[in-house]
Amino acid sequence: MKQPLYLTGLNHQAMIKLCIDAGVKPIHAETLTAYVFRKGIVDWHAMPELPQPLKTYLDKHIQTFTPEMIAQQNAEDGTQKLLLRMPDGKDVESVLIPAKGRLTQCISTQVGCAIGCKFCLTATAGLTRNLSTAEMMAQVFTARHRMNKPVRNLVLMGMGEPLHNYEAVSEFVRMATDPKGLAFSPRRVTLSTAGLVPAIYRMIEDKLPCSLAISLNATTNDIRNSIMPINQKYPLETLLTAMHAYIEQYGCKRILIEYILLGGINDSLADAKRLTQLLQGTGCTINLLPFNPFTESIYQRPTRENVELFKAELVRAGFIAVVRESRGRDISAACGQLKTEVSKRRKLAAKL
Ligand code: SF4
Repeated sequence: MKQPLYLTGLNHQAMIKLCIDAGVKPIHAETLTAYVFRKGIVDWHAMPELPQPLKTYLDKHIQTFTPEMIAQQNAEDGTQKLLLRMPDGKDVESVLIPAKGRLTQCISTQVGCAIGCKFCLTATAGLTRNLSTAEMMAQVFTARHRMNKPVRNLVLMGMGEPLHNYEAVSEFVRMATDPKGLAFSPRRVTLSTAGLVPAIYRMIEDKLPCSLAISLNATTNDIRNSIMPINQKYPLETLLTAMHAYIEQYGCKRILIEYILLGGINDSLADAKRLTQLLQGTGCTINLLPFNPFTESIYQRPTRENVELFKAELVRAGFIAVVRESRGRDISAACGQLKTEVSKRRKLAAKL
């Protein structure tokens, strides 16, 4: 189905074309982009400098929307989880994480996800559809209106596998890093993948201006197959070869390894040693994420002792390893949990 043309999904070049098509000077695209990307104002009737013929043209050809806030959870540490409704009624989560005076926003790229990681709640519902660039951008604008400090980092780690929605995500990344767009540094936009290897090579070929996080989570194919079915298609060796190609192109500063520690599954000292061998010579930073169990999960949280031993082994081998406690642990910890809770509540209410 053809998506409507939303203002928030248009880059600077497209806005210049709009002006030309509307019969006004291309310079008005500067005003339009400044309102949209600098101020987060998406209603052209609230842009007094725009000429009337351009507004009339926009009324006729372009749409605008602001996602409806369906639910919100605030954690003690300041993390805010938002459930946002898209124009077709589909809900996605977006999370705002404050740390050291900076704000990081976790963006969803799909409604649901088809990748099926066994430790992930979003996976249980499967994939409904891809989000458009405009819908990803709308998450940023919603955050901007809610918080009184600017978002410093964008991480594409919310619902969905970003590389499974390559076209819309790559356009979002370009607009997020375009000086005439959101103007983020490529180091401050991080795309996280479960390991869609061909798309990693495509990122390299396209010179996509962002950092890459690889959600590795295991050091043997047996373990990775059991927790991440995508490994059966793109096993560890293939994924690590793609990682090396990425490092060769951008160096190790634009790559991050994520490792979710699942108690008794992948958190032993032997796992840590194997991880150091797999990543030897890469200089990658490793984020360790102790798993937070949710109601339906089959995995356990690792013990504090195992987390510390695991980290110590990585540090001993010369890696920078950081334990990232899931922010907002007192609210629904897992990605997809707020959406699940709200939908359960709705079903219950419908029965009453
Ligand atoms: S962890 Fe990410 S890629 Fe894996 S199922 Fe969940 S949303 Fe999809």
